[in-house]
Amino acid sequence: MNLAVLGAQWGDEGKGKIVDLLTPRFDLVARYQGGHNAGHTVYVDGAKFVLRLIPSGILHQGIVCVIGNGLVVDPVALFAEIDELGRHGIDAERRLVVSDKAHVILPYHRDLDLLSEARRGERKIGTTSRGIGPAYEDKIARRGIRVGDLADPETLEQNVRDNVLARNRLVHDSTMDWREVLDDLRAIGARLQPMVRDVSLMLAEAMRAGQSILFEGAQGTLLDIDHGTYPYVTSSNASIGGVCTGLGVGPRAIQGVLGVVKAYTTRVGEGPLPTELTGPMGTRLRDSGNEYGAVTGRPRRCGWYDAVAARYGVRINGLDALALTKLDVLDGLEQIDICTAYRCGGNTLTEFPSDIAQLSRCEPVYETMPGWSAPTKGVRRFSDLPENARRYIARIEELTGVPAAIVSTGSDRADTILRDDVALPALKNLVIE
Ligand code: GDP
Repeated sequence: MNLAVLGAQWGDEGKGKIVDLLTPRFDLVARYQGGHNAGHTVYVDGAKFVLRLIPSGILHQGIVCVIGNGLVVDPVALFAEIDELGRHGIDAERRLVVSDKAHVILPYHRDLDLLSEARRGERKIGTTSRGIGPAYEDKIARRGIRVGDLADPETLEQNVRDNVLARNRLVHDSTMDWREVLDDLRAIGARLQPMVRDVSLMLAEAMRAGQSILFEGAQGTLLDIDHGTYPYVTSSNASIGGVCTGLGVGPRAIQGVLGVVKAYTTRVGEGPLPTELTGPMGTRLRDSGNEYGAVTGRPRRCGWYDAVAARYGVRINGLDALALTKLDVLDGLEQIDICTAYRCGGNTLTEFPSDIAQLSRCEPVYETMPGWSAPTKGVRRFSDLPENARRYIARIEELTGVPAAIVSTGSDRADTILRDDVALPALKNLVIE
């Protein structure tokens, strides 16, 4: 059974941990969008790994990890990550496959990212400035350089020269030398070559041979370029549609969809966040949840669980179940609010507004639940949770519309509750190793 695991909020839901613990069930882990702005943090036996581009499945021996055509790849960042894994005794190069159709991030993409954010001033998006947006822009404008092009010296030279010269005209005072860019690319392209494959064909063959795939999403549904809170979004389809377009698989290849949500809400960067808490409670959630970006270190904006936004995540992705993370961060709170609807211009909305201007005007309607004093941190059986924590989960399930198949109570792999009463075929008889 293949399973998609993706973020159903604004990203940083703890997908890295969930993917990591589910990985032993699968033969391949395939990422379908984004770039090295993802920043999954995984702890294994106390060692911390921040994986930006490579699927976190790489931490498991024998698992093949795939970077699909839907990604933009910075080869320098990719090899930095490969080398870092190598220092921990993980030979990533042998188990990593990169699509020939993935687009390459070049040095001028990073310059353009900084430039465009500076030009937007007050209206900046809050990007990670890694050149990801400009690389996707080139892809859509049909002037991008793809991983497969690195093996074609003539096309590569022509495209690099044209693109660098065009960028030099755009970026004031830029005198980037296209020959230097080309030389660097040739060298790195040669190292990349053994990993490059037709990913769609490879996945089709794997499935024909009875192998199973975990489709790994980065960022979250509300940051999706089409279905997120545009323009405060990422440049790719983080939601379920990205699996098909970003890997070249048909929709029936996806046999289950697990949405990762936090027991509260966070968002990094700009854009509306209806349940945002700017006072001491926001600080409390940020500090207890260590809500600082894994890649940029930026403090995340924090708020209560937003069931309207989560329901939208269920609709856009056709979620079968939730993986509810960071329940332990709410330990010790006297009361916990859940946003059940929005109030906007005298109306009560129960569906997430399509119009961002309307979303910006929405005020949350809260339902207050009692908190719990006994810790949930590290609890591994549902029945061992404090009663009020169980009630809180039940209410989240009811308001969101799908059950929580997994509840996470700490950053460690083992701090996880698996609900065998929640039937998701791809998770049946799962054992956490
Ligand atoms: P991702 O991009 O969705 O994987 O999310 P991040 O890795 O950016 O953020 C998740 C952070 O929360 C990581 O530091 C995880 O180790 C941590 N984490 C994941 N699940 C839990 C949990 O249940 N409780 C706590 N306290 N931390 C968690």
